[in-house]
Amino acid sequence: MAKKIVIVGAGVAGVNAATKLVDKGYPGKDITIVDMGNDPYNRKPEEVMTGFLGAGGWSDGKLTYHTAIGGQLSKYVGEKKAMKLMDEVINNFKRFHPKPEEVQCSNPIAEPDFIKPYFGLRLFPVWHVGTDYLHEIGKNWYDYLVSKGVQFIWNERVFKVDFESDLVYVTVKGKEGHYALDYDKLIFGVGKSGIDFAQEIQDEYQLETESKSVQIGVRFEAPQHHFQKLIDISYDFKLYRKFEDKGVSLRSFCTNNNAAYVAVEETYKNHSYNGHAKKDPKYRNDMTNFGILMEINGIKNPFEWSRKVVNELQFAGTGLYYSPSRIPSKTSEGNKVSAFQIDNLNGVKHVMGEYWNYIEDFIEDMKKVFPTLGDDWGIYIPEVKYLSPEPLVNHKDLGLSEYPDVHFVGDALSARGITVSGAQGILAVEDLVKGCEWDNIHGDVTYFK
Ligand SMILES: Cc1cc2nc3c(=O)[nH]c(=O)nc-3n(C[C@H](O)[C@H](O)[C@H](O)COP(=O)(O)OP(=O)(O)OC[C@H]3O[C@@H](n4cnc5c(N)ncnc54)[C@H](O)[C@@H]3O)c2cc1C
Repeated sequence: MAKKIVIVGAGVAGVNAATKLVDKGYPGKDITIVDMGNDPYNRKPEEVMTGFLGAGGWSDGKLTYHTAIGGQLSKYVGEKKAMKLMDEVINNFKRFHPKPEEVQCSNPIAEPDFIKPYFGLRLFPVWHVGTDYLHEIGKNWYDYLVSKGVQFIWNERVFKVDFESDLVYVTVKGKEGHYALDYDKLIFGVGKSGIDFAQEIQDEYQLETESKSVQIGVRFEAPQHHFQKLIDISYDFKLYRKFEDKGVSLRSFCTNNNAAYVAVEETYKNHSYNGHAKKDPKYRNDMTNFGILMEINGIKNPFEWSRKVVNELQFAGTGLYYSPSRIPSKTSEGNKVSAFQIDNLNGVKHVMGEYWNYIEDFIEDMKKVFPTLGDDWGIYIPEVKYLSPEPLVNHKDLGLSEYPDVHFVGDALSARGITVSGAQGILAVEDLVKGCEWDNIHGDVTYFK
């Protein structure tokens, strides 16, 4: 008999898990996915983090293809298997793509000499799905899962999981009360929008966790022409440097070009910054933006530390902007990016302490590598990636060490991107269809087209 599988979160991880199961013939009626957002037909553009495909459904659509990028995968399964799992995720995005031939891979191969004295350049392939297509991909993918009998529950929020009696408690949006779903296997993929909930569960069950690093920095912005010679080699370039003895490394993160806009993220009622790239030529602004992110190891309570720093870098209800020559730029809707402009960095240095020097040096060295840059840049402060503490899981199927039928996956575990989140979702369910009555398809999947 099929086990009853409940998936909390219809994000990238949850959807790839369900797809693996039904591709292999697992009965869809025994899979229930609960999500607090909307199905892909009703999901609105402003619902950035919730609904079918989660944050991945409204993302930049860049599928990184390297085990050193996007969070933890090879540490569980080794390099070879990790690449195989990532292939499956990329194939899923292609098979539900209305124009799969337009999914392109960029693969820079050589580190240019001009950056070598100051930075390393991470070279890795990226598959570009295209933000504009994600909506259609979502609909095709959803229709496929529904056609296989998968049960979806939308607009309802899981607020409690009882590991002892295998029950998931759900509240219905706009209504009082709640109901419970029972499970034999639970896939827990609540992503960043469920980070507080994941933390609550970890606290309630006192799950053993692995310590995490702090990921904090700024969103850097400048006219694109200063960076063009590097963009021509690597569109989404990743400059990096490491200070091993200090437990600190820095990298440029998520580079946007051509039609590049700085986006405000609101987390825990504070503002931090991220970036978006539009595809439509009418939005072209010839700007470049990217995060300069520091990974800091060895800070006690990294989550609390990051939240405190972010909170102290707010003024007048928003984050900060500093530039020697510019003012905050406009959003694609023509409004000023919300940020309070400061005329010196003394306050920021005070809050970030010695760590601020690493960011300052990074910018100074970029001025040497890109000589036209000079003072023609600005920074939005802060950019932050809150990494939830990683519960200890077994490496075979990401089941919790203490509750092996509960599998943490995606950003709720240790992923930081689409490909790794999807791959973790697949890994969590693979064993359920291996060598049993449903393992009858042997890799032959039903394609959308
Ligand atoms: C603006 C933006 C752009 C991005 N661009 C990229 C990119 O180009 N490339 C890349 O690799 N990564 C990108 N990312 C990150 C990527 O989207 C995530 O790493 C990935 O989606 C994580 O997958 P996940 O399944 O773990 O969580 P998510 O995809 O976030 O899904 C989690 C789901 O859980 C649901 N949920 C949460 N809590 C509950 C609850 N209590 N009850 C019921 N449902 C719940 C949410 O509604 C959501 O649908 C981007 C993120 C953002 C915000």
